Amino acid sequence: MSAAELLSLTASQALSRIEAGELSSDEYFDAYAETEDGLNAYLWRADAGEEGANPAGPGREAEEPAGSVSLRGLPVAIKDIFCTEGIETTAGSAILAGYRPPYTATAVERLADAGARVLGKTNMDEFAMGSSNENSAFGDVLNPIDHQRVPGGSSGGSAAAVSGGLAPWAIGTDTGGSIRQPAALCGIVGLKPTYGAISRYGMIAFASSLDQCGPLTRDVTDAALLLNVLQGRDPRDSTSVGIADGVELPSREDLGGLRFGVARDFSHETEGVERGVAASFKATLDAIERLGGELVDVQLPSAEHGLSAYYVIAPAEASSNLARFDGVRYGMRNGEEDGLLAMYERTRAAGFGPEVKRRIMLGTYALSSGYYDAYYGQAQKVRTRIAQDFAAAFASCDFIVTPTSPTVAFERGARTDNPLAMYLSDYFTVPMSLAGIPAISIPAGNAEPDGGGPELPVGFQIAGPAFSETRLLDAAFALEQEILPVGSSASRPGPTGLMEGSG
Ligand code: GLN
Repeated sequence: MSAAELLSLTASQALSRIEAGELSSDEYFDAYAETEDGLNAYLWRADAGEEGANPAGPGREAEEPAGSVSLRGLPVAIKDIFCTEGIETTAGSAILAGYRPPYTATAVERLADAGARVLGKTNMDEFAMGSSNENSAFGDVLNPIDHQRVPGGSSGGSAAAVSGGLAPWAIGTDTGGSIRQPAALCGIVGLKPTYGAISRYGMIAFASSLDQCGPLTRDVTDAALLLNVLQGRDPRDSTSVGIADGVELPSREDLGGLRFGVARDFSHETEGVERGVAASFKATLDAIERLGGELVDVQLPSAEHGLSAYYVIAPAEASSNLARFDGVRYGMRNGEEDGLLAMYERTRAAGFGPEVKRRIMLGTYALSSGYYDAYYGQAQKVRTRIAQDFAAAFASCDFIVTPTSPTVAFERGARTDNPLAMYLSDYFTVPMSLAGIPAISIPAGNAEPDGGGPELPVGFQIAGPAFSETRLLDAAFALEQEILPVGSSASRPGPTGLMEGSG
């Protein structure tokens, strides 16, 4: 097999070949390790032939895991927000430059226990704050389809690596859209699981009540395979409960009997949605009907207030979580010679970038006495309303669908001077995060940006009730087969029997 063919396989396809003895896992790992990163997608990479690429698990060709799913040495890219023992972990921030954690995040450990090997740590917006990967202290990540455009964020390095042939699959984190939006902008699949499905232990905290780990993959089958390994209860994270019945590989071929809710005021008709994105969304609704799915009107009256609530709650939690970066415990230390207070101030002034400082100030203000009820208290009420909207809507439908992002990938620099324009990127993804429900973005063709120019990927978002991941992935799989051009890698049948006896 040529290197190009090797790098175009989905992870499940590669796994089938490794299982059949047609491909060696070392050869597959090295093919990725030897690619050139022209996208600035990685902050750290394993060397080809490296023994210790796995911070928590077996070395090369030690591919038989204890559990039921074996990933047989498959390479996986890890967002640099996950702690990896002995491997620099920065969360895209200068304040953590040089920090080598003494332990490994549970999500990474679960991958290693299943036999996967860490291919590299991916670039990201600083502390996962951003929608374009222009907030990394270590430089922008480029969109593999058009280097003048952003890959989305904050898991932009993971999305660019998977889309650009630098990793077969990756994990990222999503607080308000950071898996789904970059997946959409790079033309891949991104899943934010139900809050609590995957442990947050060892995942550097941004907004703890929203942060969730999830897969970025080339197709829906790979997303299911990765989620199955990642999910589970973890005694080290009291909010992790796992997915009770596990996750099954998707196989559904039609959407008969399933109802898809469309909220007129939270869909392609919403102001600010690009024409091409709206057209792709409508075409995907047609595809749902062709597959026998039914479209139903639903109301999500509070969803439009999601961003306002999110930009109070997330900064409030961030201001508290980021207090620990003080020059004492991790990474950078400045101004020590002038006393403790000067050290705090100078370390934080030099270590944090502008967006992180903006969030810390917003959050501290929202939590200060006298303003707490007016901002934080109100935002929590909106959050409850949004969750109630979804619960009410799911009484009359199985899933809710929206465009993932109002626009296709935008040009680098286009929104850096306007935080509000940047925040609007997450208009459709934030409400699901606030409600804690799972949502997946799948590629839904390409569309021209409103300003003209070559076509770029568009994402289609499907959200379901809490812990409906198996059904959600099944529906996404059926739709994926209908949308994707025949002959593309994702429309080939996936391996069978991979996850037998798991769950
Ligand atoms: N773009 C959003 C923000 O900047 C979401 C980020 C995320 O999901 N981590 O907060």
